[in-house]
Amino acid sequence: MEHLSTKQISNTFTETFPGDLSMNNTRRQTPGVLYCSVLPTPVAQPVLISWSDEMAEVLELSKPSPEDILILGGNAINPMMKPYASCYAGHQFGNWAGQLGDGRAISLGFCSGKDGVDYELQLKGAGPTPYSRNADGRAVLRSSVREYIMSEAMHYLGVPTTRALSLVATSDPVLRDMFYNGHAEYEPGAIVLRVAPSFIRFGNFEILAERGNGLLSKQLCDWVIARYYPEIDIEHEDRVVHLFQAVAERTADTIVEWLRVGFVHGVMNTDNMSILGLTIDYGPYSFVDDYDLSFTPNTTDLPGRRYAFGNQASVAYWNLSRLANALAFLVPETDKLVAVLKNYQDVYERKYYVMMAKKLGIDELREEDRLLIDSFEEMLQTLKPDMTLFYQLLIDLPDAIGSSADVKNFFQETFYTEPDETILYASMLTYRARIETNSCSVETSKQMMRAANPRFIVRNYMLHEAIEKLEKGDDSLLKKLEEYMKDPYSKKGDEYFVKRPAWAEQKAGCSMLSCSS
Ligand code: AMP
Ligand code: MG
Repeated sequence: MEHLSTKQISNTFTETFPGDLSMNNTRRQTPGVLYCSVLPTPVAQPVLISWSDEMAEVLELSKPSPEDILILGGNAINPMMKPYASCYAGHQFGNWAGQLGDGRAISLGFCSGKDGVDYELQLKGAGPTPYSRNADGRAVLRSSVREYIMSEAMHYLGVPTTRALSLVATSDPVLRDMFYNGHAEYEPGAIVLRVAPSFIRFGNFEILAERGNGLLSKQLCDWVIARYYPEIDIEHEDRVVHLFQAVAERTADTIVEWLRVGFVHGVMNTDNMSILGLTIDYGPYSFVDDYDLSFTPNTTDLPGRRYAFGNQASVAYWNLSRLANALAFLVPETDKLVAVLKNYQDVYERKYYVMMAKKLGIDELREEDRLLIDSFEEMLQTLKPDMTLFYQLLIDLPDAIGSSADVKNFFQETFYTEPDETILYASMLTYRARIETNSCSVETSKQMMRAANPRFIVRNYMLHEAIEKLEKGDDSLLKKLEEYMKDPYSKKGDEYFVKRPAWAEQKAGCSMLSCSS
């Protein structure tokens, strides 16, 4: 175990690729480079709010010393660190947005974990970079708590994600117009230290394509393959296609996992799509409470609901098509990329139905089960019960399900509005009949369901309350959520095994959020 301030740090990315080394953080276009060297801007006083012991253990880091906390707040660096901001572009809400880049994220370098993975350490909210455009490079406490908690919560849920090591308050105020209504207010600032094998996004390739920089794009592909996709033959002439295929697979895996736990990302722009298929950039995300495929937590997304719960698979497809487009100038036969894209729907559906079978405790997915799963989902979409509660109760659906009134009573606590009893009953009869044909034992089927269905999820209203308390200096709720989120499949967090309370339904920050962060 070692302190962050003396830990061995490597700078593989900056040493491999051309960068702008001027250390100048004035906003500008940066053609021809993959990053700009830039130092974090010091803050008034970094105060540690939270530290992930589990993440620290992976990185073999000791509890942070006062010097370490200075690094976490951007007031110092370990002498081996060569901080930088990455250059990327992106499609935002379906439109080409040009150069974006790390406007408030600053990578500190790589640190090898005891699991053999080389982890990139990145501060979010550490001050302006050349990519900050018209913004301040900072992050507010509320959005930092949200990123810190949810990235770790997703890890414990078993969903591919970036992680977080620390959350510090900066003691500096940050001006934000939370509701975009012209009433900007000062809020406490904070910085999260994020951790992932890499933060490279689809957008890192998009910018190189836009700039016609084939050589760098090929080099970046090779780097990504060598480090993160060792199963791909780096000498193969089709390696870029193979990379695209692997990214499509991982993306599909992650989307399926989002649907399993009911997660809605909220801003699936191509600059927020990880080349490793990780859940990245936690903004106005939410779990679904009442099951609704058209639910989007992002107020900016309301007009088109592009990033709604049920749209995530098709948006991922669209985003992958942007990536294919960005890689096309490296691939002589572009129909190979098109073929991978065409196959995405099948790949995704296969994964989706396998996941749904587990949620439902179906032992072996049969062809006809797809229809059952579709109609089960239709029932949920019609009755809109609380997704998490409903699947939990389903595990203990009695063998003799009784009358339609009995079934309704059984699920009563999961409904936000009075359900159509007939639809529910019909669905349960079909479901029960299928479960009875399982070749595994009832207990095995239930175990499968317990492993696939989280019992505790961190809902937006809980975060909202935890943040309100924290802003008043009370971290008790934050600590409690941190404890429960580590065990999401157990009954440990059962004090929260209830529907979203009525007061949270329309309250800002409890159901929907703006992008202001
Ligand atoms: P997001 O929608 O949060 O993924 O951010 C989109 C782009 O805006 C990225 O390039 C971010 O780095 C940048 N950005 C967001 N917030 C800020 C901020 N407060 N200061 C500077 N850049 C920001
Ligand atoms: Mg982003």
